[in-house]
Amino acid sequence: MAQADRYPAQGGLDPQDWDAFRARAHDMLDAALEQMKSAEQGAVWTPLPEDTKETYRTPLPREGKGGEAVADQLAQLLPYGVGNTHPRFFGWVHGSGTPGNLMADIAAAALNANLGGRDHGAMYVEKQVLDWVRELFDFPEDSSGLVVSGTSVATVIALKTARDRALGWASRKEGVDGARLVGYTSEQTHSCVARAFDILGLGSDALRKIPTDADFRIDLEALTHAIDADRAAGYHPFAVIGTAGAVNVGSIDDLSAVADIAAKENLWMHVDGAFGALGVLSETVRPMLKGLERADSLAFDFHKWMHVNYDAGCVLISSEEEHRKTFSERPEYLKAASRGLAAGNPWPVEYGPELSRGFRALKVWTQIAEHGTDRIGAMVERNCGQAVLLGKLVDAADDLELMAPVALNICCFRVLRAGLDDTALDALNEEIVIRLQEDGIAAPSTTKIHGRVAIRVNITNHRTKDEDMEILLSAIKRIVPDCSQEAAE
Ligand SMILES: *Cc1c(COP(=O)(O)O)cnc(C)c1O
Repeated sequence: MAQADRYPAQGGLDPQDWDAFRARAHDMLDAALEQMKSAEQGAVWTPLPEDTKETYRTPLPREGKGGEAVADQLAQLLPYGVGNTHPRFFGWVHGSGTPGNLMADIAAAALNANLGGRDHGAMYVEKQVLDWVRELFDFPEDSSGLVVSGTSVATVIALKTARDRALGWASRKEGVDGARLVGYTSEQTHSCVARAFDILGLGSDALRKIPTDADFRIDLEALTHAIDADRAAGYHPFAVIGTAGAVNVGSIDDLSAVADIAAKENLWMHVDGAFGALGVLSETVRPMLKGLERADSLAFDFHKWMHVNYDAGCVLISSEEEHRKTFSERPEYLKAASRGLAAGNPWPVEYGPELSRGFRALKVWTQIAEHGTDRIGAMVERNCGQAVLLGKLVDAADDLELMAPVALNICCFRVLRAGLDDTALDALNEEIVIRLQEDGIAAPSTTKIHGRVAIRVNITNHRTKDEDMEILLSAIKRIVPDCSQEAAE
């Protein structure tokens, strides 16, 4: 019997029994809602149990097990997230998501739209989102952008535009061999910038890491010296990358000064604003971001401080023309038309590396349309206040030490213990963080500040309450004696 004959002639992969499917879908929705409703309860992080891991180590199925069994398995996975939906998730930089985004994801899945191009409803939603974002950051009206997976990809798109402009777009055909392009950023910049240099064929060594001042902002004098030295040595400086919200401590470069240097030195100015750029939503933070509107490009995330459910980020490029010249390529089978489904020009495929693209923009639109920027901004501001509060509590405690000034929404500190040297303190603080995570009380992460391990509390979380700062510190107090023992072993 031919393979196709084993299955009913009608129906493809759609349910045979729609009523049963509808009931299962409603159950799944209920399970998802229960999960989200109880986000504040229980452990921050619960590792996946061994026997559940086993259910994801099966051979490739020739025969499917059917929708009911699959729905059960999906529901079983729900409690085992990374923990970023919990109010005391403080690790790395994660947004905490919203139940409202469940609606967007259901609608997006039902539409199953491909946003590479063409003229259909979803495209208008993404355009609306980009218009809003342009307005938010005071970018030129004719600037262009793209909703992407996150800042890492947005950075590649922005810096490819910078690279190709510097080489008169010849690099699109000829590559960058021998161009000796170099760019500049601070030592505090996220690793995705060096990765973009690598991906773009420039090599990560071509990204010069400039030292920072006492507030962890790029040292402007050192930046100017580095540019001069590179020019004298025959390099071709082409870009400077400012940081709005550095990943370690949340510092924001003096973006106006960076813009001045970029203008004077004829450099492309890019800003990594992954989480910090959305500080524009807060009246307190906005003045610190002055100069951002002068950037040639900006990369930031909706899934961090806007709490859009993973994943959604964005690239904005002030010159639509330069952006399009960097990516546009329309072979015959993607030819545009002025009417019909192939209309709606230019297409997103002309602004980035992806042809097929999902409908991430719907989650973003939903979040902004439902809550409005004032409310989201109030959450941003509240998080900054909580970091300041934690900094004060740390300052007031004899056995805690602040490792960096609280710049935005991040507080880095460490536990001190009489008789322990720096190496032993590093081990102790590493152990404390692991223990907090394993106990499920709170989930900060660690980083190094001036070479020493710091407990890093990043608050990009609309569920966090002020009292969570005290819960964190009393949990640390409780577990330190145990951890000291372990760290000493
Ligand atoms: C998270 C982050 C990135 C990377 O963004 P993704 O969305 O994870 O790709 C880059 N820079 C900073 C400052 C970040 O916080």
